[in-house]
Amino acid sequence: MKAIVFHQHGGPEVLHYEDAPQPAIPANEVLVRVKACALNHLDIWVRVGIPGVPFPLPHIPGSDVAGEIAQIGADVTTVRVGQKVVLAPGVSCGKCAACLAGQDNRCRQFTNLGYMIDGGCAEFVRCPEVNCLPFPENLSFEEAASIPLVFQTAWHMLVARAELQPGEDVLVLGAGSGVGSAAIQISKFFGARVIATAGNEAKLEKAKQLGADHVINHKSHKIRDEVRRITGKRGVDVVFEHVGTATWDESIASLAASGRLVTCGATTGYAAKIDLRFLFSRQLSLLGSYMGTKSELQTVMKLVTAGRLKPVIDRVFPLAEAAAAHTYLESGQQFGKVVLRI
Ligand SMILES: [Zn+2]
Repeated sequence: MKAIVFHQHGGPEVLHYEDAPQPAIPANEVLVRVKACALNHLDIWVRVGIPGVPFPLPHIPGSDVAGEIAQIGADVTTVRVGQKVVLAPGVSCGKCAACLAGQDNRCRQFTNLGYMIDGGCAEFVRCPEVNCLPFPENLSFEEAASIPLVFQTAWHMLVARAELQPGEDVLVLGAGSGVGSAAIQISKFFGARVIATAGNEAKLEKAKQLGADHVINHKSHKIRDEVRRITGKRGVDVVFEHVGTATWDESIASLAASGRLVTCGATTGYAAKIDLRFLFSRQLSLLGSYMGTKSELQTVMKLVTAGRLKPVIDRVFPLAEAAAAHTYLESGQQFGKVVLRI
């Protein structure tokens, strides 16, 4: 099969479009003919390499897959060959206490397609039967592939971790990112007021179209000042963080008393500090969040099928141009998802 493979970590140039062996499947897995694979910032981290994480090389990246079942293992009973599917990115043991409690993103063996195992930037990918989700027939393959990772991540952050309530104020950083565009929609779905940030007027306009009530251009305005102005000096109940070093101080300063900051990443760096006086006297909560559960993703897919949550695609590249797609994603120009078509 054709696949995007890297044999060493590095820049986009390490991504090669080449022949790779078609995966063999065990009895409880399926082989999926990939039609579309959406990119995530995670793909860039995996390609560059993360200190202390021994990614198997050579490696096929790609976590967000939509396609058709090409082959099923002997024990597979819930999907058939030819069926269209969207894949849950998270792969876990299915047997431990966390998995049995439905908290598969807390499984010690949890990984994503394209992370410690080969992913979907290829003509075929293998995965456990339990990762197959019904295909939303109102969407194209490219749109369907744009949903799983960012929507389950944003849902887990806002609903499970921050416990967002109707009427609360949410500050969504980086509205143009995949998780940002998902967070705006989920926050509105739960009846919150959304303040979204982005670095140019075109992105701010798109954030408004997605439902943001207020927008802040973080290049021309100081986030904390605008949040204070919009909220009548109160601050927001929830800050949706994934940017890291570049926005951390603004995020903390934007919180109302008893506010919650929830974070799933740090695209601009891991270093952050906090003045402990504000943490305790203002009774702030700092919440870490990692991916999401299969159950949450099933809820998300229901809402996508009903048209209540919508994929946001910026640009589609052919699989062979994965390196160009990575370069584009790293440039930060996009609003929404960058997708590979296979
Ligand atoms: Zn487990």
